[in-house]
Amino acid sequence: TKKKFKSEPVSRDPHRSKLSVEELRKKSRRVYLAARKDKKIHELEEELIDEEYLFKDVKLTKREEENIKFKRYALDLAHEHEKAQQMENIDRYHMPDGKSDETSKNDRYREDNRYSDAKANGQAGQNFEQRKWEDEVIHTALPHFGSLDKEAKSNQPKYDYILDEEIQFVQQLTIPGVNELLQYKEKSKINEHEDENKRKHRSLQESRKTLPIYRFREDLMNAIRDHQVLIIEGETGSGKTTQLTQYLYEEGYCEPDTENVEEEEEEEEEDYDDDDNIKLPNGKKKKEKKMMMIGCTQPRRVAAMSVAARVAEEMNVKLGREVGYAIRFEDCSSERTIIKYMTDGMLLREFLSEPDLASYSVLIVDEAHERTLHTDILFGLVKDIARFRPKLKLLISSATLDAEKFSQFFDDAPIFRIPGRRFPVDIYYTKAPEADYIDAAVVTVLQIHVTQPLGDVLVFLTGQEEIETANEMLLERTRKLGTKIKELIILPIYSTLPSDMQIRIFEPAPPGARKVILATNIAETSLTIDGIHYVIDPGFCKQKTYNARNGMEALTITPISKASANQRAGRAGRVAPGKCFRLYTSWAYQHELDDNSIPEIQRTNLGNVVLLLKSLGINDLVNFDYMDPPPMETLRLAFEQLYALGALNHKVELTKLGRRMAEFPLDPMLSKTILASETYKCSAEILTIVSMLSVNNSIFFRPKDKTLLADTARQGFFTPGGDHLTLLNVYNQWKDTNYSTQWCYENFIQFRSMNRARQVRDQLEALMERVEIEIQSNPADTIGIRKAICSGFFYHTAKFSKNGMYKTVRHQQSVLIHPNSCLFDQIPRYVIYFELVLTTKEYMRQVIEIENEWLRETAPHFYKTKK
Ligand code: ADP
Ligand code: MG
Repeated sequence: TKKKFKSEPVSRDPHRSKLSVEELRKKSRRVYLAARKDKKIHELEEELIDEEYLFKDVKLTKREEENIKFKRYALDLAHEHEKAQQMENIDRYHMPDGKSDETSKNDRYREDNRYSDAKANGQAGQNFEQRKWEDEVIHTALPHFGSLDKEAKSNQPKYDYILDEEIQFVQQLTIPGVNELLQYKEKSKINEHEDENKRKHRSLQESRKTLPIYRFREDLMNAIRDHQVLIIEGETGSGKTTQLTQYLYEEGYCEPDTENVEEEEEEEEEDYDDDDNIKLPNGKKKKEKKMMMIGCTQPRRVAAMSVAARVAEEMNVKLGREVGYAIRFEDCSSERTIIKYMTDGMLLREFLSEPDLASYSVLIVDEAHERTLHTDILFGLVKDIARFRPKLKLLISSATLDAEKFSQFFDDAPIFRIPGRRFPVDIYYTKAPEADYIDAAVVTVLQIHVTQPLGDVLVFLTGQEEIETANEMLLERTRKLGTKIKELIILPIYSTLPSDMQIRIFEPAPPGARKVILATNIAETSLTIDGIHYVIDPGFCKQKTYNARNGMEALTITPISKASANQRAGRAGRVAPGKCFRLYTSWAYQHELDDNSIPEIQRTNLGNVVLLLKSLGINDLVNFDYMDPPPMETLRLAFEQLYALGALNHKVELTKLGRRMAEFPLDPMLSKTILASETYKCSAEILTIVSMLSVNNSIFFRPKDKTLLADTARQGFFTPGGDHLTLLNVYNQWKDTNYSTQWCYENFIQFRSMNRARQVRDQLEALMERVEIEIQSNPADTIGIRKAICSGFFYHTAKFSKNGMYKTVRHQQSVLIHPNSCLFDQIPRYVIYFELVLTTKEYMRQVIEIENEWLRETAPHFYKTKK
């Protein structure tokens, strides 16, 4: 509308096309500086709009295009800066400038080293390189914002000397609060005679009543009664996960299904013994007939465990009895369980033993917005069983605005919205991109700690390694600061953290202290931690990516979506108005983040799911009822792989082998390896190896101050033949010490990981009965063991090639043996690897040496056609 129209022909600046990129950059800087100086941004803006408009249909040279692009970029910066300046005096969150400080330079240098270490270990490396590069590019094009303006300098507060690094933020906007309901916390009446336990239980019951969902209990129950399928949408922390199950139980949804009682009563009555007549918390007697279960799925294991623990506590029962949970390799439920939390993958597996899920009266698919692969598959399956089980109630619960989409998928099921309670959250962005977000996060935590009123901090990182790094850095820096600062309690939370440590994040900080929670994505919506006032969001998460062209799967650190960023910010406003510090620029938020994340089903290997669905008798996977279908190419690859493994025949039907493979909750390649161990009479060894691989990468412990000792210890375990055999060796030695903690400590082995491997092994061993494989031990036959591995992992063969690299047999891709491998300096001709990690180079991790002939013996389907 504002566009001015010039009637004259477009006059092109003859000089413009002669400018080099470098000059263009300078020019853009000048545009920007001019804009800043004369405050004529809007004029420049108009000019640019004209230019863009006029050149719209003109074929421009590359240079000219670039010039316009640069102008646009410069103006965006100018706009951003303008906004920043407006904010400067009001909300500027500023710290002293310590950039020239010698120690901080050293710190940065050290951090760079840390990253190259990380790279060698295959973590974050690629991404870091990428970011570093981007950062350099950005910095050359970007006018430096200069140091703080004079006013800010003269205002330097007294904490000046405390921190030697700082990050500058600008406030951009405030997410308004949502329907700020008054918190009506009833003061608990203190009764001196009441014993500790009772008091605790009562206060728990009271706090249940303060949750937003409580007021809607009746409406909600009515809606559930009237509709078979209901979509429930509510802000994180409203009480969906912990309360719905309890309301349903209290409403009687666990009562035995009386229709079926008649049929089965006669034969089964005798089998019940007295133990089944248990007392439920409300005094009801569990009847002879088995009660119905309320199932609630969670995408994450930590959430399933922690939420179950919470609900058990609220109901005052022992976890694993009436309230239980099930996650892969761990079943903490029993015959008595009536409320069961489980990972979505576990419910999927339950279809194998109970195709109509007849033990459940209600299924809650929680955290539906996460759109994990398993949740997406569940959607199709539960929708189907709901059709022929009219009494089954199906609740789809979600934290975000995808509700419409869910409703559509479930034949226009009604949506129940729980108005949330959320306070406004101020959003701050960094002024310039941060090269190293872990370092930036650590610095920001300290900045908050010394400048902001008490209130807990939540930091989002991408995984265990990052969390541990940040934890160490924080410890080190707070130790240096000593008593100059208040107490800072650092608490990590990630999926493999032992549960006693997980519980600690919920304990309130002692008076005068501040809690900092270093969390993975788990804290985005799955877990609600009270007391968070500040959120630090670096803007990344770890995501599975799958390249359907070459079948390569990798975990990569990727930018989050806008939806995620807003969820994260929301965590700061649950108990009071909060602040969210985004470690990226506002420009990056607007231009670099996608609106929503891509559902996992479209970016992952489907082998496992295809095998599972096939064994459920679902044959037409192309026309399965997907909410968003997977790419055809990915499906085709899954079929191809399962065929090569012998799980499907050429008519794409499940074979007997395939059926047995489906019994294991493992990747098809691992299941096949286990089944092949029967042939080579080494099932005991293979079970150990598979269990050790499942806790991969966290077996060896390498403390910073004892790297040499740790490396020597690790090398002491090296076993000829390869890393799988090394892992076997570690486990067997540990077993010989009767699973000693001390032994782990002395040998730089992580006891926790070993314990987990042992647990996994026990579970797998129990499954061996179902596929009728005898446990046989044959530790000396390392060839047999490797042949079994070969039967599962023949896709992962690489051959040494002339150029000094390995080439994968399937895709002729150049790869290297990981420096941590015991085969690193041995260069066998043929190897099989467990996984590839992508960093600056592609490394094979966990490698064994094999003979060429074994391939034809173990994978005839695949290798008979090839040479
Ligand atoms: P939603 O599922 O709607 O996000 P939740 O039911 O998970 O909400 O959480 C409701 C409340 O329960 C939260 O305010 C939180 O304080 C509390 N809560 C949940 N899990 C735990 C736990 N493991 N320990 C302590 N409190 C918890
Ligand atoms: Mg929840």
